[in-house]
Amino acid sequence: MTKTLTERDLAHIWHPCTQMKDHERDMPLIPIARGEGVWLETPDGKRYLDAISSWWVNLFGHCNPRIRAAVAAQLERLEHVIFAGFTHEPAITLAEELTRIAPAGLTRCFFADNGSAAIEVAVKMSFHYWRNRGKPEKTRFITLANSYHGETLGALAVGNVALYKDIYAPLLMDVITAPSPDAYECAPGESAEDCARRQFAPMLALLEQRADEVAAVIVEPLVQCAGGMRMYHPTYLTLLREACNRHGVHLIADEIAVGFGRTGTLFACEQAGISPDFLCLSKGLTGGFLPLSAVLTGEQVYDAFYDEYSKLNGFLHSHSYTGNPLACAAANATLAIFRDEPVLERNRTLARLMRESVAPLEDHPHVAQIRQTGMILAIELVRDRATREPYDFRERRGLGVYRAALERGVLLRPVGNAVYFMPPYVISPAEIALLGRVAGEAIEAATCA
Ligand SMILES: *Cc1c(COP(=O)(O)O)cnc(C)c1O
Repeated sequence: MTKTLTERDLAHIWHPCTQMKDHERDMPLIPIARGEGVWLETPDGKRYLDAISSWWVNLFGHCNPRIRAAVAAQLERLEHVIFAGFTHEPAITLAEELTRIAPAGLTRCFFADNGSAAIEVAVKMSFHYWRNRGKPEKTRFITLANSYHGETLGALAVGNVALYKDIYAPLLMDVITAPSPDAYECAPGESAEDCARRQFAPMLALLEQRADEVAAVIVEPLVQCAGGMRMYHPTYLTLLREACNRHGVHLIADEIAVGFGRTGTLFACEQAGISPDFLCLSKGLTGGFLPLSAVLTGEQVYDAFYDEYSKLNGFLHSHSYTGNPLACAAANATLAIFRDEPVLERNRTLARLMRESVAPLEDHPHVAQIRQTGMILAIELVRDRATREPYDFRERRGLGVYRAALERGVLLRPVGNAVYFMPPYVISPAEIALLGRVAGEAIEAATCA
């Protein structure tokens, strides 16, 4: 008897971020054969609306014709070439374009092949910069509570989501953690901006006391995505930039999830009017086609590494697939869409429709808050709306929402108790309406018992 795809998969494959035992019963494993726009389709024709852009990578829809054509054309010419000692036009064009559109001063581009690797690069570069500048004692990093920067050991160390981090604590470098400016934690009557200012005080104290040993502060600008889509006011970033300047500490902005229009501006840092010392980009960079990441930095950092080989001041970091031409071609096509189409303007309308689509949930007894930053909308589920008492994680309410939404043809994959929409920017008003309706039904189904 021929085995199903699911059976063949489960015989050999170990999936990411998954307790594989869940697939015995609670969680169906869903084979996907094709995609188009916001839709994913199984081999037998069942369709799912991808409301989370396949883990936040897809910006302009699955199998986007323009990006697909660019990758196909590149495939005719060159699939890959060693990126040390050699170069190619797609990477050059991409570096030109990224440095053109990025916040001011970010003129140098280092490529890697995934988000975590970009974080490793930024962390190593910052430390190494200070060493090259005669400050080898600057070895520490300040991170925010509830932040997420990836899963490799360095990236995990500078992140702060207990679920992913705690078990590996014995393997991780020690970091300094400051409170999150998360506006969900506002005191009664306090504005998001006041909350950001209040939470900045302990960060400032850390910088004042420990700048001598600190290389960089690392943050996810405006939205802590993996930490439950928690959002904060841009004032925090403005204050942080000023204080980092004053105390001689780098600022690393991890825009791996929030870059490329997600928060309403091309980069989230723009809303605070700041430029970081390092800008980490990945996920949407290729429109969700191929793995690629980039770390942008400025001349000052670049110059600190530029020297005679024998001094060993160079940045001798590499990945086999650095600057892969196919991935660069996908990224160039993605950025061309931003140039040629009024993406951010269209997204403002889509963002408003997203908000309207969940209006009926505003007073739901198990919804504590509906929050939004641009094309990210999150619905916080709680046991008790009045006290905001959260659900126990063991109840797996998020999994309940996931399953109920799948039954209704929508892929929603809550982080913790936050149900969120982070759809491709090609979603239509009718698809948003469907999404809102299904989210409401799925939340009702998952919270009723
Ligand atoms: C996803 C993510 C990463 C890690 O990227 P990977 O490509 O999954 O390694 C880092 N930082 C943030 C903010 C992310 O959302």
